[in-house]
Amino acid sequence: MIPTAHNVADEATRARRVNTEFESYWLSGSQFLQMDIEHWPQELEVQERDAADDEELQLRYALAVVSYKFMNYNRFSSLSRIVQTLAWVIRFVSPCRNGKQSDETHGLTAWALETAKHALYRQVQTEAFIAQLRLLEKGYTIPRSSAIYQLSPCIDDHCILRVKERIDAAEWLPIFTRQPVILPPNHPLTKLIVSHHHAATKHQNTEATICEIHRHYWIPCLRKLLRSAISNCQVCRVSKATPVAPIMGPLPADRLTP
Ligand SMILES: [Zn+2]
Repeated sequence: MIPTAHNVADEATRARRVNTEFESYWLSGSQFLQMDIEHWPQELEVQERDAADDEELQLRYALAVVSYKFMNYNRFSSLSRIVQTLAWVIRFVSPCRNGKQSDETHGLTAWALETAKHALYRQVQTEAFIAQLRLLEKGYTIPRSSAIYQLSPCIDDHCILRVKERIDAAEWLPIFTRQPVILPPNHPLTKLIVSHHHAATKHQNTEATICEIHRHYWIPCLRKLLRSAISNCQVCRVSKATPVAPIMGPLPADRLTP
C-alpha cells in the first residue's frame, strides 16, 4: 500500500491542482522508486475485521414508489399553451412510433391540436372518472350513486366521456355541441378551460360564458367555478375597481368662525 503523499494515482483522483512540470512526480513517478528498496514505504498492516461482528442488513423487500404524472397542469397559464405544448409532443412522438418521417415542416396542424385536446380530455377523465369509464367500456351502466349518472354518459370513438343529449339528430351541429365533453370541476385543466372561455367571451356576464362553455363541455358546479375564475381575473378586477375618494383635509379656522 502506497501512502497518499507518494501515490501518483491520487493526482488524478483527488481534488487538487496537478503539477504538470517536468519534475512533477505525476510525470517522473514517485521519488522512492529511485531509491533502494529499503527506503520504500513500509507496508501498513491491515487489520482484518471479524465478519461476525459486522451487522449486516439483509435486503428482503424493495419498495419502488412510482409517481406517474401525465403532466404538471399547474405549470401552464392558459389552455392554448397546454394544448400547443402537447401538440408539439404528439408531433414528435407520432412519427417515431410510426417509423416514418413527418411531412409537416411548418407549425402545428389542426390535426395535432385536435389530437392534443382529445389526449387531454382522456387523461383528465381517466383521473376523475376511471371507474365509470371502465364500466362503460365493458358495456355496463354506471351506478346511480355516481356523480355523472344523471348525465347519461356515453363514450365516443376517441374513448372520451360525453353527455348523451337528446339532440343527436341535429347533425348540422358539431359533435362537441351535440355531445359535450364531461369534465370534473376541480381539475386544473377545467379551470384553464373556464378561464379561456371567460376571456374568449370578452369578460362578459356569467350567463353568456356558461352558455359558451356548454357548447363544448359539461362541467358540474360550473357557475361556482366561473365565479372563482372571475374573481381571479385581473382584467375584471381592474374594470370593476372603483376609485377610492381621498380623505378631505380639515377646514381652516376662518371658515369655521361665525
Ligand atoms: Zn375577466
